[in-house]
Amino acid sequence: MAPNVDPYNRKITYLRLSVTDRCNLRCIYCMPVKDLTLLDHADILTYEEILKLIRVATGVGIKKVRLTGGEPLIRRDFVHLVESVCRIARIEDVSITTNGVLLKEMARPLFEAGVHRINVSLDTLNPLKYTKITRRERFDAVWEGLRVAEAVGFSPIKVNVVVIKGINDDELLKFADLSVRKPYHIRFIEYMPIGQDSHWTPEKYISSDEIKAELETFGPLHKIPHAIHDGPAERYRFESAKGEIGFISALSHHFCPSCNRLRLTADGKLRPCLFADDEVDIKSPLRKGCSEGDLKGLFEEAIARKPRRHRAEILRKGGCLRPMSTIGG
Ligand code: SAM
Ligand code: SF4
Repeated sequence: MAPNVDPYNRKITYLRLSVTDRCNLRCIYCMPVKDLTLLDHADILTYEEILKLIRVATGVGIKKVRLTGGEPLIRRDFVHLVESVCRIARIEDVSITTNGVLLKEMARPLFEAGVHRINVSLDTLNPLKYTKITRRERFDAVWEGLRVAEAVGFSPIKVNVVVIKGINDDELLKFADLSVRKPYHIRFIEYMPIGQDSHWTPEKYISSDEIKAELETFGPLHKIPHAIHDGPAERYRFESAKGEIGFISALSHHFCPSCNRLRLTADGKLRPCLFADDEVDIKSPLRKGCSEGDLKGLFEEAIARKPRRHRAEILRKGGCLRPMSTIGG
């Protein structure tokens, strides 16, 4: 069996890496307002360690990397990291997930560093509601950041929207309209029970099918055929739209059979599945100076430990314990 093929015959080619657990926002579904437990700086992987691990990962078949967090753009010299990741031979695709607060200043340097695909999280188009969701007044900064990212040439620009009943489910048609006017790929993400701070309850959850039904009152949605490099999103487009609509249905239509991902947490743990707290510690052996062959073996072990499917819909609240901010989503 190839080193990147798991026991269920899935080929693992995609590494999602949280570069920090720190964040300049405090989203109500991700981080607590107080008593926040942060990792010690010494426990967070250094850039040298991250680069070494990505190089090793290419030896097991990883070709695609997403840098996320916490908020990746707040980590010092992040542009430098991006530049170095983009230069790694055999990494064919590098992307970033950000809350967009610092994008206005950083979009151009990031683009010039070599990353051209970006996901920006924005759950509401209403500045007051934005403050309620993120507990910070940064709506204008994110909106301006999106404009600059577009002007600089990022493509696609994906806008991640976590839909929560009673919070932003009244704005679905506004996002539909945004996808018509702007070349943004609006991706509706099902609210997930991840970490103690997600405050997930079944009453706040809305399935992609319900979201799609509401969007269809705006106009017919035309399905975009699944391309080979597409992720788990089901893609659609409204008539004459500049952008797209996508659905990430992690709970209602779990995409485990086509999962090609491995995650590396900010503190150096390989995580076979987003929803399960099973982890392979790669930082300790790395810091003890183990060989590249042994590190490769740990990637293979994490791949071998990928479960057939996640159990979040059974576990419901508290699907996993680790906070989303250290995993990266
Ligand atoms: N700070 C960056 C951001 O917000 O884009 C990157 C890290 S954030 C953890 C990555 C993604 O996870 C974001 O799109 C965020 O909305 C999403 N996310 C966080 N908690 C979630 C939850 N409980 N359910 C669904 N998505 C969640
Ligand atoms: Fe920060 Fe992203 Fe979590 Fe919001 S979702 S608190 S922006 S890490």
